Amino acid sequence: MTDGIAYDKLTKDQLSGVSCIHCGRVPVNLKVVENSTDTTLVACSEEDRMMCERKVFWLDSPCPPWCDGLHADNDHPDDRGHYSSWQGRVPLINEKAETYGDLSKGPFQPEYVALHIRQMVREHRAMIWCGLGETAKGWHLTPAEARTLAKVLMEAANLTSIAPKMAPSIKAA
Ligand SMILES: [Zn+2]
Ligand SMILES: [Zn+2]
Repeated sequence: MTDGIAYDKLTKDQLSGVSCIHCGRVPVNLKVVENSTDTTLVACSEEDRMMCERKVFWLDSPCPPWCDGLHADNDHPDDRGHYSSWQGRVPLINEKAETYGDLSKGPFQPEYVALHIRQMVREHRAMIWCGLGETAKGWHLTPAEARTLAKVLMEAANLTSIAPKMAPSIKAA
């Protein structure tokens, strides 16, 4: 037994020398921490210490404040990004309803504009996704573009609420 190791907290794989006693991953480069007749314990090597100390090995910096923090070691490389728990949804009454379950009978859901924030881990800036419901149709907007779009939409909406001018009256001859 080696001092300082909480043996009662180790998993079966850690106790059998398969996974690192600190992070629980199978070490890429390992060091033997204890090697006795009945126990072999291993850990990640010193060179891999930075990765060993991370909760999620591919995440080398903290999550932005808006991220839902749902990351795991085995996330696909294409999915390794920060995603907001915030989601904006705007139902659309002029679009076809989406069908769920039995395709001929529904249940139906109104189509909607879907918005969320995302930033893949190797990207410098967050982007705002603005798309059609659950489809991949839409745009990744920078925050500046999103603000511009919001402004232009307001302009368009405001134009529709200008009262019509009075029709010119026909003067009696
Ligand atoms: Zn480790
Ligand atoms: Zn995150």
